Amino acid sequence: MANKRDYYEVLGVSKNATDDELKKAYRKMAIKYHPDKNPGDKEAEEKFKEVAEAYDVLSDKQKRARYDQFGFAGVGGSAAGGGAGGFGGGMSMEDIFNRFGDLFGGHFGGGFDFGGFSGGGGGQRRVQRGSDLRVRVKLTLEDISKGVEKKLKLKKYVSCSHCHGEGTMDTAGKSTCQTCHGSGVVTGVQHTIFGQMQTQSVCPTCHGTGEVITKPCPHCHGEGVEQGEEVVTFNIPAGVAEGMQLTVSGKGNAAPHGGINGDLLVLIQEEPNPDLIRNGNDVIYNLLISMPLAAQGGAVEVPTIGGKAKVKIEAGTQPGKVLRLRNKGLPSINGFGTGDLLVNINVYVPTVLTDADRELMRRMEASDSFKPTEEMRREIDRKYRNMLND
Ligand SMILES: [Zn+2]
Ligand SMILES: [Zn+2]
Repeated sequence: MANKRDYYEVLGVSKNATDDELKKAYRKMAIKYHPDKNPGDKEAEEKFKEVAEAYDVLSDKQKRARYDQFGFAGVGGSAAGGGAGGFGGGMSMEDIFNRFGDLFGGHFGGGFDFGGFSGGGGGQRRVQRGSDLRVRVKLTLEDISKGVEKKLKLKKYVSCSHCHGEGTMDTAGKSTCQTCHGSGVVTGVQHTIFGQMQTQSVCPTCHGTGEVITKPCPHCHGEGVEQGEEVVTFNIPAGVAEGMQLTVSGKGNAAPHGGINGDLLVLIQEEPNPDLIRNGNDVIYNLLISMPLAAQGGAVEVPTIGGKAKVKIEAGTQPGKVLRLRNKGLPSINGFGTGDLLVNINVYVPTVLTDADRELMRRMEASDSFKPTEEMRREIDRKYRNMLND
């Protein structure tokens, strides 16, 4: 503070200046050093702040009296406490525009963004948020078909057990942050092709909380969090699919300084089923039947999700025929409808034959019944074309 200029000198007025003279002098100076007129000029910005500070003190009767009597000491230190008018860390651009903007704002129509500050300063404290935790959960088709409750023990940051997240064990262990005067934000000026823009960012000193811890908790060193474990229970709805991510709100890491917990993000992994292939909400089973069964018909058992079902094979069933078992698939995650189980029929052609088998085959070959028909060939052909056109 040693190199501070006298407030009357800064505004270029006498010690006996009237309120009106002060206001006029300040208005003139503020327009002269306004950031819109001096883009990128750090010195002008400093001057702009200097005149604002001088005017703030001299335009207030009490502050002016203290300044006249005690100099800077009368309006710094304790007088600076709390409010935006304190000069402990200098006056921010935001403060200036909030308090005196109407004195010179009319001069600067475009370019300068006052928008963010018209609602008044303060009240913008940010609460810190803990980081999200990610876990993978492996599910069987059976789990997915019914939905499942999962219980996991997670290693994570939890609220400090000693200070309960406060960061201090002492009720008087916190004070208002001097960098942002408790607002949690600091204001800067950015030069863009559109002119100057005022930008706000989270206060680097208090990380947006507006408070600093003066007597940190010895256990967590003021962070308010410690490494711990939590058993988290959550429900996975029926119908989820590989790669989906569910959010369990508030079950992530605890935030430093008593903020909001992060989320637990659950990534769904599907365990491959040895029998069934998932296709959307349908499941497919590739059934392989014998030639005699395909020709004569009969019944077979097929696996389903979590069980078995009997299906009827009609006499003369051709390879590639698909049987649809309604609602034996997976429920839609939206709750609308359930998929089917598709039984895709294939016919096994023997690969190893005994002498007796060969004799049997010769007799089959001689029979007209075993001769492929042109009609059947055309049907296969038609199916194939349809499939290609799909
Ligand atoms: Zn603690
Ligand atoms: Zn701060």
